[in-house]
Amino acid sequence: MSFEVRLEGTDIAFACADGQTVLDAAASAGIELPYSCRKGVCGNCAGRVLQGELRGARGLNLRNETCTPEQVLFCAGTPTSDVLLEPTAWHRVDPTLRKRIKTKVYRHQQPADDVSILQLRLPMGQRAKFKAGQYLQLRLDDGSERSYSMASAPHESDMITLHIRHVPGGRFSAMLPTLQAGTALEVELPYGNFSLREETQAQDAAAPLVFVAGGTGFAPIKSIIDDMIKRGIRRPITLFWGARKPEHLYLMAAVEKWQKQLPDFRFVAALSDEGVALPDGAFAGFVHDALAARVDTLVGHELYVCGSPPMVAAVREVAERRLELAPCDFHSDVFVTAAPEATTASVV
Ligand SMILES: Cc1cc2nc3c(=O)[nH]c(=O)nc-3n(C[C@H](O)[C@H](O)[C@H](O)COP(=O)(O)OP(=O)(O)OC[C@H]3O[C@@H](n4cnc5c(N)ncnc54)[C@H](O)[C@@H]3O)c2cc1C
Repeated sequence: MSFEVRLEGTDIAFACADGQTVLDAAASAGIELPYSCRKGVCGNCAGRVLQGELRGARGLNLRNETCTPEQVLFCAGTPTSDVLLEPTAWHRVDPTLRKRIKTKVYRHQQPADDVSILQLRLPMGQRAKFKAGQYLQLRLDDGSERSYSMASAPHESDMITLHIRHVPGGRFSAMLPTLQAGTALEVELPYGNFSLREETQAQDAAAPLVFVAGGTGFAPIKSIIDDMIKRGIRRPITLFWGARKPEHLYLMAAVEKWQKQLPDFRFVAALSDEGVALPDGAFAGFVHDALAARVDTLVGHELYVCGSPPMVAAVREVAERRLELAPCDFHSDVFVTAAPEATTASVV
């Protein structure tokens, strides 16, 4: 059994099977709605149901604390009737672009005690097509999937680089020490819409960009900045990178390269462990406090934030409430780590 989903103010209509989420049904029909975690946590997919009804699917709650009273999460909702929906945005994508690829580990480095950098080689002649900032889904042998952002830029497409934090008690994290050159890993990509807004550039090509990364949230931001350099996009950039200790800023070589390459590039490290030696210009404390302390206003800026759910929420609060960022200029990818079942109880 399936129901019809229509999008308000458009002629778009597509079928959604019983139990299928609206977000997945839209993607299969070539319509991308905003999303990030697909686990009912980040709230990026929230929108309104104008007619009909959705219920929670996959054991997820239909609403969480990020929703306004009229909103529900389209990554969690499946229709119980034909529905008319109002997402905050939508655009057409080619559903055949998403590919499952059998990769092999080319190199595994551990630049910090809790971070792996994995370089994956694609099969001969195959290319990974994605936009800088997007992520892939890595399939584990039990059939479950984990999301990881590409840290490499799209032009480096015979190889994909991932930055992976070792999460205590995590299943894939526990496998990381066993991954070596030649280990096969199946991935599917691209996913996500954490990428530079090209349409905004057309309106204001000079709008300054502020990137805020927490830990391995640096990965998609690295991809975006490297892609901007490759494509000759020059805009003022301020990068905040939060970690506990200096050694957790695991790829300072990339930051130092940008400092040399980009004329209008500013970097602020935020280190939250007390008593650590602060590098020049670093901020002692959390990255959202660094943003509040080192930026006067975000009016007319675009902000791209990536990291854990509490970090992204804290940055958004500072950006919109104190630094007057327009909500439409806030873009985030949220590294939700818990399995969906674990997440459900905490999002009510
Ligand atoms: C869009 C997106 C992009 C991401 N990109 C990155 C990235 O580039 N780099 C990166 O480091 N991470 C990224 N992540 C996070 C990543 O997908 C994984 O969630 C993370 O690596 C943990 O995977 P794991 O298998 O090691 O842990 P999991 O096995 O998923 O466990 C995670 C945590 O949840 C606990 N847990 C698991 N199941 C349960 C349960 N049933 N009940 C209670 N607790 C439970 C575990 O003990 C552990 O603490 C991203 C996440 C999203 C949503």
